[in-house]
Amino acid sequence: MDRVVSGMRPTGVPHLGNLQGALRKWVELQDSYESFYFIADWHALFGLEERSREIKQNTKSALATLLAIGLDPEKSTIFVQSQVPEHTILFTIFSAITPTGWLGRNPTLKDMVRADEPLPYGLLGYPVLQAADILLYKGTLVPVGKDQMPHLEITREIARRFNSMYGVEYFPEPQAVLNESPVLPGIDGRKMSKSYGNIISIEDDFETIKSKVRLMITDPQKIRKSDPGHPDICTVFQMEKSFVSTEYAEDIFAKCVQGALGCVAHKDSLAKIIWEYLSPIREKYFYYMSHPEELVKVANYGAGKARKIAAQTIEEVLDITGVVL
Ligand code: SF4
Repeated sequence: MDRVVSGMRPTGVPHLGNLQGALRKWVELQDSYESFYFIADWHALFGLEERSREIKQNTKSALATLLAIGLDPEKSTIFVQSQVPEHTILFTIFSAITPTGWLGRNPTLKDMVRADEPLPYGLLGYPVLQAADILLYKGTLVPVGKDQMPHLEITREIARRFNSMYGVEYFPEPQAVLNESPVLPGIDGRKMSKSYGNIISIEDDFETIKSKVRLMITDPQKIRKSDPGHPDICTVFQMEKSFVSTEYAEDIFAKCVQGALGCVAHKDSLAKIIWEYLSPIREKYFYYMSHPEELVKVANYGAGKARKIAAQTIEEVLDITGVVL
């Protein structure tokens, strides 16, 4: 049976872009595959912007979000990466066989490096840790967005290199499960991302959501309600499409083009749609945030399940590499 593996960096309070992108896919996949989902706290430590004391709080928030959106600890193995030390053991083994040239090719590296700071080894090597994260569980399917395909390719290359160096067929070459849903725009029209400061977060209340949506960029040529608009260049419409049916979106499109819809009314309607979507998720989220003992229970339970497989892999890998007697 195929095995799905994926992780989420705890970099802040999760936002709509996370929920409507990767996490929605995770929930869908847990019904069809054996799934391993983890909070990638080692990766947060390796990121430049998260070298702070916030990792613990963000890990809690990420875990509460996974449960709030419907991941089920009985269906999926849900855990925190640092609770399974085998990730770092496999990372060390893969570090020994991965050419640095492969890591220099990583296209997202240049976005993460700051000109005024030296490049830490951990940041250069994080695709090696990603490979360890996936291959530790012999993951065969990895849900990714298009921009993460190069990382998965490095994982596949590392699996190939290990197998060929040791003359074994041990690690599978995982395949991508492409997330086809379009990238959710933030309030400024760019991809929704904490680093752009354009997010609607799971913790935002209705008034905050409403005021953020009011700031969204629309068609600059539509000044009055009666002006014919261009929804295809409007962030409000692009965001709304993620939450409504095709018929609803087509109706809005037609009304905007015909000059039968005003931007302020449309923004307020989108704020309500987002609120209706978020409300039940927020309720569960805040429940878990105020019951940290339940989060610890879930994380320990998941780590216990993950470690059984991880320990087996490490035992076999150490045997193959001849590191232990
Ligand atoms: S009416 Fe709606 S879709 Fe049309 S430009 Fe205004 S906000 Fe955008």
